[in-house]
Amino acid sequence: MRIGCHLSSSKGFCHMAEEALSIGANTFQFFTRNPRGGSAKELDENDIARFKTLCAEQGLKHILAHAPYTLNPCSADERIKEFTLNTLSDDISRMERIPGNMYNLHPGSHVGNGAEFGINALAELLIKVLPGARNTYVLLETMSGKGTEIGRSFEELREVIDRVEGHEMVGVCLDTCHVYDAGYDVVGDLDGVLTKFDNVIGLKRLKAVHINDSKNPFSSHKDRHEVIGGGSLGNEAFKRIINHPALSSLPFYLETPNDLDGYKAEIAFLRSLYKQ
Ligand code: FE
Ligand code: FE
Ligand code: ZN
Repeated sequence: MRIGCHLSSSKGFCHMAEEALSIGANTFQFFTRNPRGGSAKELDENDIARFKTLCAEQGLKHILAHAPYTLNPCSADERIKEFTLNTLSDDISRMERIPGNMYNLHPGSHVGNGAEFGINALAELLIKVLPGARNTYVLLETMSGKGTEIGRSFEELREVIDRVEGHEMVGVCLDTCHVYDAGYDVVGDLDGVLTKFDNVIGLKRLKAVHINDSKNPFSSHKDRHEVIGGGSLGNEAFKRIINHPALSSLPFYLETPNDLDGYKAEIAFLRSLYKQ
């Protein structure tokens, strides 16, 4: 089973790798820079070189970088657009230094300009940055649909993928809390949800799963993560999710409200539910 959690990137790649290994993870997610800030630290060449060796030796792979929350790829504001474009292309070029991994972003919010506008703005931005993503999958995250978020439905994500002409490096990261909050019943009808995903987007685009319980009920459009088994999805749903043939070989990333010990326990628990 490929599983990890979100880790702090403040001490570099090797530190994250060691932390991941210490809690029984074989992958991890991290923010490319302060999630609420702007600039990123210089890459440390030594750290990167040692990290690559560590990954090869210890079997760490499918590292997932997460874009900061300050971006809005759907914005009409020129300054936000420019900041988002610069950040995305810088982040992608950094990820190209550790090729074969993935970069996840929130599609953004149209802030009143309408879904059509947001989808267009996002697609235009992707068309500019995708040529830089030669060995990095760029993933669009499924969102809960709070406020004016884009990505609340599989159809919206499909629309974005169509407008970048199905670029081969574009994929999707399915967040279990978000889709449940968005009104996809992964508890009562997991098969139905995944069939829909396949029909609308295509399962070959699904590259990663954010595995989170939800503090809120089905279709609440809220987006507040809960520890595994502590929310409205529940342990039985997670057992079916991680073992579903369409998902079981994908990497799973915990973004639950936890410290490192909590993540270690959740990883062990999910491994105990995993059948392969
Ligand atoms: Fe996210
Ligand atoms: Fe997520
Ligand atoms: Zn979330």
